[in-house]
Amino acid sequence: MINLDVNHKNVLVRVDFNVPIKEGQVTDDTRIRAAIPTIQALLEKGAQKIILLSHLGRPLKALNEDGSLNVKKFTLAPIAPHLESLMGKKVIFVPTVSGPQAEKAIADAPAGSILLLENTRFEAGEEKGKSELAEQWAKLGQVFINDAFGTAHRAHASNAILAGFFDAKHKSFGLLMQKEVESAQKVLNHPDKPFTAILGGAKVSDKIMLIENLLDKADNIIIGGGMAYTFMKAQGGKIGSSLCEEDKLDLASELIAKAKTKSVNLLLPVDSIAADAFAADAKTQTVNSKEIPDGWLGLDIGPEAIKEFSDAIKASRTICWNGPMGVFEMAAFANGTKQVAEAVAAATKNGAFSLVGGGDSVAAVNQMGLDDEVSYVSTGGGAMLTMLEGGDMPGISSIG
Ligand code: AMP
Repeated sequence: MINLDVNHKNVLVRVDFNVPIKEGQVTDDTRIRAAIPTIQALLEKGAQKIILLSHLGRPLKALNEDGSLNVKKFTLAPIAPHLESLMGKKVIFVPTVSGPQAEKAIADAPAGSILLLENTRFEAGEEKGKSELAEQWAKLGQVFINDAFGTAHRAHASNAILAGFFDAKHKSFGLLMQKEVESAQKVLNHPDKPFTAILGGAKVSDKIMLIENLLDKADNIIIGGGMAYTFMKAQGGKIGSSLCEEDKLDLASELIAKAKTKSVNLLLPVDSIAADAFAADAKTQTVNSKEIPDGWLGLDIGPEAIKEFSDAIKASRTICWNGPMGVFEMAAFANGTKQVAEAVAAATKNGAFSLVGGGDSVAAVNQMGLDDEVSYVSTGGGAMLTMLEGGDMPGISSIG
């Protein structure tokens, strides 16, 4: 982006303003703040008008009873004043996303304006990746910047398809997208060794491709969270009422065998904090993860697992983390995730590169106030997961 000539040009910027809004107020503006450096840089480089495009939610999946759009719920209108106050600069909200009204609003805006168009997903062609729609948007600017990492795994009209209407000299990543891509590539393409992947969360089925891809790259794969118990049971363990995907037991055994063949150290939690109910005030005990009594369920990793995981993490030079180690939303089962987060922070302090991305580990790191103590916290949940899985990223490949 730094090298593009945007002077006196209208610049279309695809941002990710898919933020939570309650009663007309933005309740978490992380993604809005993350887009500001790009907007600022474009203004400093003399862009004539900056036209922001973003989606919000899935409006076509939640139509009103009469089949009309629920504009009140899905409008981007509340984001304009929020961005305006963050930037200290006027932001013009355009209550339509394409067609003559949008064109006129852009033409009428004075030079140096920032305009925010209405929700791209109000157009049926957006998620279908319709090129007619992308072409209409392409006519609004001479340069296209994609800064929406959160949708980079989708070939939608306003990202990948729109990029197709610009040549290499007139399109680029934004600063946020660039950071996201560089962080993921650092982990995937040239990690300093040892490289440790920490995987957690509820289900093995959500993480199969991720594990498969990391088996070719990581030295250590740490598995915690609910998904660990399918692995425990696959090894003949007794897991009580812990989470288990019966149809993934064979797969878990295969992954364990593959790790052995590839000399990847697969670390599972030797002990667990078991509870007699899935509740914040349940009775708890520390147990061997393969000997969980009937009626009890593992909701966090235990002290021995914490020690083993932390030692591996602290000895690492590259770390990537996706998914919590336990039910961190309940204080009684947050310790494993907290200790792992502390170990990642300590390793980072010692010079390791650490990427936290995809899944609830981002929320966990933020909740624990450690977001500034890791190298990079991704803003794109599903997109980062897809990238780490080695999946297709049309929003990235379309920029080149
Ligand atoms: P994910 O979105 O895949 O990162 O999964 C996150 C969810 O997994 C969180 O809501 C956690 O509460 C949940 N989770 C983590 N560990 C466990 C566990 N041992 N049992 C049940 N749920 C868990």
